[in-house]
Amino acid sequence: MIIGVPKEIKNNENRVGMTPAGVAELVKRGHTVYVQQTAGANSGFTDEDYTSVGAKMLPTIEDVYATADMIVKVKEPIAPEYKLIRRGQVVFTYFHFAADRALTEAMIASGGICIAYETVELPDHSLPLLVPMSEVAGRMSVQEGARFLEKPQGGKGKLLGGVPGVRPARVLILGGGIVGCNAAQMAAGMGAEVMITDINLARLRYLSEVLPKNVKTLYSSAHNIRMELPTIDLVIGSVLIPGDKTPHLITRDMLSLMKPGTVLVDVAIDQGGCFETSHPTTHSDPTYIVDGIVHYAVANIPGAVPFTSTMALTNATLPYTVALADKGWQRACKDNPALALGVNVADGKVVYKAVADVFGLPY
Ligand code: NAD
Repeated sequence: MIIGVPKEIKNNENRVGMTPAGVAELVKRGHTVYVQQTAGANSGFTDEDYTSVGAKMLPTIEDVYATADMIVKVKEPIAPEYKLIRRGQVVFTYFHFAADRALTEAMIASGGICIAYETVELPDHSLPLLVPMSEVAGRMSVQEGARFLEKPQGGKGKLLGGVPGVRPARVLILGGGIVGCNAAQMAAGMGAEVMITDINLARLRYLSEVLPKNVKTLYSSAHNIRMELPTIDLVIGSVLIPGDKTPHLITRDMLSLMKPGTVLVDVAIDQGGCFETSHPTTHSDPTYIVDGIVHYAVANIPGAVPFTSTMALTNATLPYTVALADKGWQRACKDNPALALGVNVADGKVVYKAVADVFGLPY
C-alpha cells in the first residue's frame, strides 16, 4: 500500500502522524511511505531521519494526499484539506466528529474512509489511542502546576517537594483515571503530599495498592473536597464521565476556601472542565486568575511536548496502521473489532451511531 504522512497544518500542532520507526516497519513489510518535507521537524525528526529508513519525501501537502491510498496523521483534517481527500482513500487520525458538523459533512462528501483514533475501542471499553495522550497530559499537569505555583508566575511561591525541614506542597487530584494516576505518580515523585479522589471504590483500592505511600485516596464528594481545599496548594481536575459533560466539582463559591496563589489545573477542560470558573486557554497564554486563584486550562496539553507525544501516540497507532496497510481497511476491521469501531464515515455515509445521532444523519 502507499501510505502518506502530511505535515499537520492545524494551528500550533507540532506532532506528526508517523515516526521514522513506523516508516521503517512499513517499508520492511513492502509498503511505500511518502512523507511531506519537514513534517517531523517540530517533533525532532529531520527529513534525513525519514529517508534513511526508506521514506520518500514530497514537497507539498497536495502531493501527499494525491499520492497515498492511506493518510496517517494526528489532528482532524481542517478546511484546506477537505478537498484533498478522495473517494475510497483511508484517513487514519483523530477526528472528534461529534464536535464538528462541517468536518462531518465534508468527509461524507469526500467519500473517504475515516477511521478515528478516538473511537477505536477494546472489549473492556478502554480507548487505546486516547490513553497515551492522557498519560502525557497527566504527567504534564503536575509539571505545569509546579511552575505556576512559583511566585513570579502568580502562584503562592511554594516548592512542590519542599526541602528537609519544610513541609512539601499538598496536591489534590480529582478523578483517578489515566490522567489522575499519572499526575499522582509525578506529584509523588516530586515529593508532594498527594490526595487522589474518585467515585469508583474499586479504582481507589487499585490506586492505593499501586501508588507510593505519599499518595492517599479519598472518596470524591462535595463535602470531602470542601474539607481539603483550605490546605491545598495545587488541584488537578481529571474527571471524566463518558459521553457526558464534566461535573463542576469546584464551584465559584468554593474558591474562597483556598488561599490566594493556589493553582487549579483543569485537564478535563476539553470536556467542559471540572471547575465552574474554567475556560479554555492556550500554551501561549495558559493561565488567568479568578478571586486570587490561578487557573490553567490548556485544551491540548500534549501539544507542548510534541517529541514525547508523537512517540507515545505512534507507539499506540502503529499496530493498527500496519494491519490497515497489510490487509486493507475492510479485512483489517473484520479481523479486529476494536479497529472496526474506529470507522466513523465510509463511502459517503456516517457509520458510527453516536456521530449520526448528534447531527440527525441517517445511520
Ligand atoms: P478516565 O476515564 O481514565 O478517568 C476519569 C476518572 O474520573 C474515572 O476514574 C472516573 O471514575 C472518575 N470520576 C467520574 N466522576 C467523578 C467524580 N465526581 N469525582 C471524582 N472522580 C470522578 O479519563 P482520563 O483519560 O483520565 O481523562 C480525564 C480527562 O482529561 C478527560 O476529560 C479527557 O478528555 C481529558 N484530557 C485532556 C487533555 C488536555 O490536553 N487537556 C489531554 C488528555 C485527556
